Amino acid sequence: MSASELNGALVASKLLTDTAHRVELLRSSSGKVPCLATVLVGDDPASQTYVRMKANRCADIGIRSLRVELDAATTTDQLIDELHALSDSDDVDGILLQHPVPRHIDERAAFEAIAPHKDVDGVTAASFAGTALGFPSYESCTPSGILRLLDAYGITIAGRHTAVIGRSPILGLPVGMLLLRRNATVTYCHSRTADLPDQVGRADIVIAAVGQPELIRGSWIKRGAVVVDAGYNSGNVGDVEYSAARERAQWITPVPGGVGPMTIAVLLAQTADAAGAPAGETVRLVAGQPVG
Ligand code: NAP
Repeated sequence: MSASELNGALVASKLLTDTAHRVELLRSSSGKVPCLATVLVGDDPASQTYVRMKANRCADIGIRSLRVELDAATTTDQLIDELHALSDSDDVDGILLQHPVPRHIDERAAFEAIAPHKDVDGVTAASFAGTALGFPSYESCTPSGILRLLDAYGITIAGRHTAVIGRSPILGLPVGMLLLRRNATVTYCHSRTADLPDQVGRADIVIAAVGQPELIRGSWIKRGAVVVDAGYNSGNVGDVEYSAARERAQWITPVPGGVGPMTIAVLLAQTADAAGAPAGETVRLVAGQPVG
């Protein structure tokens, strides 16, 4: 068997087209142009590239971007003040704090300075709680993108055994919550998991979210499984040994062109949602459906 690819670039471009239509409808009906504020601290080249890519995609579909660039010596308190000001601004609909931030900054405290109704990147505790409990909230973009990608290919989630490898607050943890709400049986694996090959080998759906090149060996993959590789390592290498995994899986995401494009597309879709929501409110989202 050679797996078919879950083409994230294609699904993301459809989502961007749909978002562009919604942005145009909002503009023509109310004159409102959605605005995403991106906040970058320091001069990490990769982060600069990510912020630039996000601003370019915004421009492509009619979303205004406000780029806030702070120098590397910015303190946690200064960053919090900036995020509070953006949260209070009537001109800003969504806020993205590019991470990782420099080590001396308390990243969690900074995330929590983002008003939940503008948290279009889904990083606040309120957004996480909403994801877990099914309340209106913005979903963390990569997890939401993964669910939307599976849905676009009609992949059954309910009742299937899913192994999530990685438990970070922005990726592993929330993607497991979204899968649980869709009635998957979820196993979280992490750096202390003693039997990773066995856990992966039992999974119908494998979500790799670690950041270590080809950690997940192709020979571990159950035949006919769905493999989603969210990892991105230098040299365009994912967390899964792609060529060997492809021989055993039924579906697999490429790296690049799989999960990555979905993340930006969800960010912009949620910015459009925020711009269209009544002032101070958060709209209900589509990727994670209520349990039932
Ligand atoms: P992170 O915060 O560093 O978390 C990595 C996770 O992997 C941790 O939970 C860690 O376990 C676990 N881990 C580390 N070594 C492991 C091992 N040997 N076996 C099993 N688990 C192990 O990383 P992240 O921010 O979640 O990002 C993960 C990857 O996704 C990175 O490659 C990143 O570039 C990529 N990413 C991609 C997108 C996208 O748009 N495509 C977006 C975000 C992230 P512990 O908790 O025990 O330490």
